[in-house]
Amino acid sequence: MSTGRTKLAGVVGWPITHSRSPQLHGYWLKHYGIDGAYLPLPVNPENLGEALRALSKLGFAGANLTIPHKEAAVSLVDDIDSNAKRIGAVNTIVVTANGQLSGSNTDGFGFIEHLRHTIPQWTASNGPAVLLGAGGAARAAAFALLDAGVPEIRIINRTVGRAHNLVECLDGKARTFAWSDAGRAMQDAALLANATSLGLSGQPALDLPLTPLPKSAIVYDIVYAPLETELLVRARTRGNPVVDGLGMLLHQARPGFKAWFGVDPEVTAELRAVVSED
Ligand code: NAP
Repeated sequence: MSTGRTKLAGVVGWPITHSRSPQLHGYWLKHYGIDGAYLPLPVNPENLGEALRALSKLGFAGANLTIPHKEAAVSLVDDIDSNAKRIGAVNTIVVTANGQLSGSNTDGFGFIEHLRHTIPQWTASNGPAVLLGAGGAARAAAFALLDAGVPEIRIINRTVGRAHNLVECLDGKARTFAWSDAGRAMQDAALLANATSLGLSGQPALDLPLTPLPKSAIVYDIVYAPLETELLVRARTRGNPVVDGLGMLLHQARPGFKAWFGVDPEVTAELRAVVSED
């Protein structure tokens, strides 16, 4: 029940019905007994600028952004942090005390936090990472791996120019490989991460034989629908440690929740069950 001092946040997208964020933040609000609300906010792209301006006028503490608004928001916020700038996408907005919109991107944080929580013995210096994809999520993952200290990032993407653009931003620590050369890229890798939409339900399968990959390499699929992708099934069967995509989604939500509601929330097995049951 609201006390009249309810803190407000939400997720802005178009459409928005698919988003699991209201359920996720709603779980944390209830769990921590916070007088707050987190709402789905359907906003057509042509209204995005006006809608974001209205956040502070309506008393919102901030918002998440989802498809198709993450890139457009880069030029609509008043202030953007260097990480969101290099990724080229904003997924979290905090309304500051003077009503300004401060934009950041928490996908890379979610990617690395979930990896560290699932496989605590993972260290960046273990060896090269092979990253499939060069879209928004792959960019976030690549910068997070670079910041973590991974010695080399090998990027494989269908559109080669997009992979080259990403490599140029990675401080000489990355290079591209063709799909046809994926076996060579994987040979001495310590991590293989899928950040394409291949394997997502309704999308084509990820056709990548894992034979050249060391059995000690971690296989991480950021696709979370289905939760256990065909890539993860194949990797688990041959003995590779695996990391699924749901935890990245849960961890990336933490910085926004902390900024708006004042608690760094925990990602627990119960939360995973609640969100994955949906
Ligand atoms: P995006 O910017 O549209 O990028 C899509 C990527 O998939 C690109 O690298 C694209 O290659 C590749 N791709 C798409 N269809 C392909 C095909 N038929 N064959 C080969 N490559 C193909 O999307 P995104 O936001 O990065 O999202 C990518 C995936 O990550 C989605 O499945 C999304 O659900 C998931 N995701 C998960 C989380 C999480 O929290 N777990 C967060 C964000 C995204 P081209 O460059 O050649 O088009």
